[in-house]
Amino acid sequence: MMSFNIIFLRVVFVCWSSDLERVVEEKRYVFTYFDFIDEIQAFDDAEKTSSCLSGQSLNNDGVSRVALVTGSSRGIGRGIALSLAREGYHVGINYLGRVEAAETTAALCREEGRLHGHEVQPVIIKADVSSPEDRLRMIEELRQHFGRIDLLVNNAGITSIGRKDLLEAGEEDFDRLFGINLKGAFFLSQAVARWMIELKDEGSDRDPKIITISSISGYAVSVNRADYCMAKAALGMMTKLFAVRLAEHGIGVYEICPGIIASDMTAPVKEKYDKLIAEGLTPIRRWGKPEDVGRAVVSLAQGAFGFSTGEVFNVDGGFHIRQL
Ligand code: NAP
Repeated sequence: MMSFNIIFLRVVFVCWSSDLERVVEEKRYVFTYFDFIDEIQAFDDAEKTSSCLSGQSLNNDGVSRVALVTGSSRGIGRGIALSLAREGYHVGINYLGRVEAAETTAALCREEGRLHGHEVQPVIIKADVSSPEDRLRMIEELRQHFGRIDLLVNNAGITSIGRKDLLEAGEEDFDRLFGINLKGAFFLSQAVARWMIELKDEGSDRDPKIITISSISGYAVSVNRADYCMAKAALGMMTKLFAVRLAEHGIGVYEICPGIIASDMTAPVKEKYDKLIAEGLTPIRRWGKPEDVGRAVVSLAQGAFGFSTGEVFNVDGGFHIRQL
């Protein structure tokens, strides 16, 4: 496309400059012409060789992209899986215990893909992200099935067990939550990043992405969910660490920070948040939906922010804005 543009611009320039010939010395005209072409060629070369974090359109090489979304049997994860299926991604649908929910996500992904002209192949994978064996098996299943990965979305998470007061919180619950919400995301990112680098070394020209779903609880205190708040805060640092380490490999790393999103996790506190939202807790006075997060994931995955990495994207109805 760019080469065609150069030919076109050459023709335009020659037509335009032949008029100028009458007023410009021949020597100077030749110099200006080659300067002009050099500028365009340099732009073309820069486009071709920009190695890091460039945007890519889907399926431009005829092969669909592959995403792994942890905890995508329900809630936000399902919303993300469906948004990706709409764009033609094959999705690894990870779950912990609810296989029927995972099967429903898979069926919806196929349908969503079909409606948008894609033959999406979802793969359902039961794995506990806090378990090292399960994480490796999950990656192995994806390798066997697709032989590649373009996107990891660290979404699986649990809320604070029993929502106990800070002074009552127990160590066992703390370890369980940190194992899933932080350790799982960290070591899965590590393993997937190694695979992404391997694919790059083998000549893949795609720019893979790692996206982690954190929470407004990473900075807004809830004294009855201390472990949850602390683990979510740590995911922000994790994102920055991987962003710096993986930039040289062209892997973009991002954090999405959702606000109050309707899902099974927030169902028990629905009345509380209905009231707070109605009273103006968020400038946009509605609950967030899983697809709000899904749309943000798709934009990042498709390279809409190719010169950004380690960035946090708030999907929270404006909750994060301080007001007087
Ligand atoms: P959810 O409705 O409770 O769904 C949780 C999902 O995670 C399910 O698919 C569940 O699988 C899976 N999961 C749980 N433990 C797992 C484990 N050990 N290994 C693998 N998968 C596991 O939660 P959600 O509201 O969609 O939340 C998704 C993410 O967004 C979480 O990280 C949460 O902290 C974050 N978030 C939520 C909100 C909100 O308002 N809802 C706001 C900010 C951030 P099963 O179906 O098999 O149980």
